Amino acid sequence: MNDPTGQEVARLHQEYVLQPWAKQGGPVIAVKRAEGIYFWDYDGKRYADMSSQMVCSNLGHQNQVVVEAIRKQAEELCYIAPSFAVKPRGELARLLVRIAGEDHFQRVFFTLGGSDSNENAIEIARFYTGRPKILSCYRSYHGSTLGSAFASGDWRRFAYEVGGAAPSFVHFLNPSVYEDGFDRTPEDEARCTRQYLHQLEEQIAYEGPETIAAILMESIVGANGVLVPPKGYMEGVAELCHRNGILLICDEVMAGFARSGKMFTWQNFDLVPDLVTFAKGVTGATVPLGGVIASKAISEFFVTHPLPCGLTYSGHPLACAAGLAATQYYLDHDVCAHVRQLESVLKPTLEGFARRHACVGEARCIGLFAALTLVVNKETRELMAPYHTSNGRMPAIFAKLRERGFYTFGRESNLNVCPPLIITEEELREQLDILDEVLTWADEEFC
Ligand code: PLP
Repeated sequence: MNDPTGQEVARLHQEYVLQPWAKQGGPVIAVKRAEGIYFWDYDGKRYADMSSQMVCSNLGHQNQVVVEAIRKQAEELCYIAPSFAVKPRGELARLLVRIAGEDHFQRVFFTLGGSDSNENAIEIARFYTGRPKILSCYRSYHGSTLGSAFASGDWRRFAYEVGGAAPSFVHFLNPSVYEDGFDRTPEDEARCTRQYLHQLEEQIAYEGPETIAAILMESIVGANGVLVPPKGYMEGVAELCHRNGILLICDEVMAGFARSGKMFTWQNFDLVPDLVTFAKGVTGATVPLGGVIASKAISEFFVTHPLPCGLTYSGHPLACAAGLAATQYYLDHDVCAHVRQLESVLKPTLEGFARRHACVGEARCIGLFAALTLVVNKETRELMAPYHTSNGRMPAIFAKLRERGFYTFGRESNLNVCPPLIITEEELREQLDILDEVLTWADEEFC
């Protein structure tokens, strides 16, 4: 049988695949192969993957060390149930605990991805505390299974509320410095932090601290625009948790695994969470894997109390072999240092765009985790596509970028720049030049 053409591959997808988060049958790029920071369609067009797909292909495409580890494990043992001991499962759990900090963390519960990591972290927090409520941020995304979707704050949760909102999920507003009208001056950041912590403190009091199991937060909000929090905010939330006996769950699904220049993004702040959820970058997206890293106290609790959660593929050997090889790769190649080095190129360049381009309101960047907020009026900070609405401007910009072989994603008015962490400085500069040109086009077209 002949290999299918790109058109045939696309047609099968359009006709038979239920496409997530989209109306069915829309246009799709048929991908033939991928390597490093690039992928190619069937016509040989090359795209620089400035999104790392869904901010998960952190080690680029087809990392051969990880691919080889999967192959070796597949030859030896593809599957054994979670109740058996198998080498890569225990070794990966130990490595993750060491990276998170052995003084505070003890055990890992493995899952298949980010949504079920948060789902299980929520359950673990409820069992451990005996309290029902989960507080989470409006400006957040935690996944699309029922519990993690209810915990998510962005408009994607609305679809899940057709059967009524879940009563034990409570949202609070987290800061978006630029959209809230603050500047990135120390004074403004301090005011922003004070305002938001005060509101959260009040909300905890009104909800009743003894009813709240956990606050679930992305260490840095990712899909909703890399919202780097104002200084002191995350530490303040951790302090409120501590003071009220509330667990802090840091969602590292997108932000984890060197994305911010630290293995976990919460390690940029002066705090220690009780539960850490992860997925995506743990295997460099080669095989699905996620999990929950639990504190010593929580781990101890489940020595005397049975853990009432479980998945057939929890800690799947192939996934753990991939996770072990990928996690070791981050450490062996000091990917965090490389990311911090390239941050010194990416951050000032994007900040320069925010000064020079009429359509760029703000640039946020930590490590290789970055986003631009696009506006139609810089003076009034009027967003290019206001929250929960869409118009043709943002899609037109993404289409223009794709035409130039620059692939990325964004939501509402945010354009994310999250390349694979193994990108070279030369590759990064080349792609930033393309972005610069497309923003110049957008300035003229939309502002
Ligand atoms: N949490 C965060 C912060 C995410 O960004 C995502 C996905 O983008 C999820 C959870 C859900 O992960 P998954 O799609 O692997 O279920």
